[in-house]
Amino acid sequence: MATVGFIGLGNMGGPMAANLAKAGHQVKVFDLSQDAVKTLVEAGATAADSAAEVIKGVDFVVSMLPADHHVEGLYLGDNGLVNQLQSNQLVIDCSTISSEAAMYVGGELEKAGIGFIDAPVSGGVGGAKAGTLTFICGGTEENVDRARTVLNDMGKNVFRAGDVGAGQIAKICNNMLLSVLMVGTSEALQLGKANGLDPKVLSEIMLQSSGRNWTLEVYNPCPDVMEGVPSSNDYQGGFMVDLMAKDLGLAQQTALKAGATTPMGSLTRNLYHSWAQQGNGRKDFSSIFNYVQPVTKK
Ligand code: NAD
Repeated sequence: MATVGFIGLGNMGGPMAANLAKAGHQVKVFDLSQDAVKTLVEAGATAADSAAEVIKGVDFVVSMLPADHHVEGLYLGDNGLVNQLQSNQLVIDCSTISSEAAMYVGGELEKAGIGFIDAPVSGGVGGAKAGTLTFICGGTEENVDRARTVLNDMGKNVFRAGDVGAGQIAKICNNMLLSVLMVGTSEALQLGKANGLDPKVLSEIMLQSSGRNWTLEVYNPCPDVMEGVPSSNDYQGGFMVDLMAKDLGLAQQTALKAGATTPMGSLTRNLYHSWAQQGNGRKDFSSIFNYVQPVTKK
């Protein structure tokens, strides 16, 4: 068993850290939200007062933060952890950020003699709670193998996509595809509903037909088709529209840089940005279902 300092206990980080404690690791936690810390202490972790405190004496530092500036600030900003980490510690950043930011943070830590991998995840809040996440890692083979000690207790798959930054590229490819599936599934369900079909029956039909996909299997966007998913809870919890919009922005930046052609990714990026601008940023990303409502006939 290992000692772990965990920073960022939100929708994803909270249950991930709880699974580490449940597996028997010694887990110290820090978040800007006191409530989030309290929940983890009840799950068996120890509270730390600051990020500097949480990393003291641990084997692994895991961070799960929203975006580039949070991760860069934590490791390289004023009082950044780069000056306090020790060379025997491994930093595992599970946030979804740009591959440039991952390479920048990883590079600066490496200069200070500290190991780093980017390890963004797929599987959503359900996967975080169940400990079935997929980790999509970038880093040396040695560091990724070393990280398995903790990753295996939070997920069921650990992939190495390549060197530092490669995990983030693979992750945004996946999320761009996910956004297309979510919008497409929402459109199909709204179309069926507008023509008098029961969305439960239509979901079951498509699930057993060629339209089958992850959103129909575990994350149906239509309220009350599936229990325990954000759509049946007023789109609360889950993966925020703001975060999906961020990921789709990253995908477009990456596509532009590489000269890749991504018309569907560009379209979903615009849809999610516009949905966020209409005040839905903190709702779950499956709420895009309501963006594609039928127009009322006059
Ligand atoms: P969240 O907003 O629920 O949680 C982020 C947490 O980080 C919050 O509790 C916040 O207080 C904390 N935080 C921010 N800055 C901090 C700092 N400097 N020090 C300590 N704590 C700080 O977000 P989330 O849904 O848990 O997502 C986290 C990351 O995982 C994002 O990059 C997201 O894109 C990615 N992700 C999310 C999902 C999902 O389904 N929610 C799925 C896969 C990947």
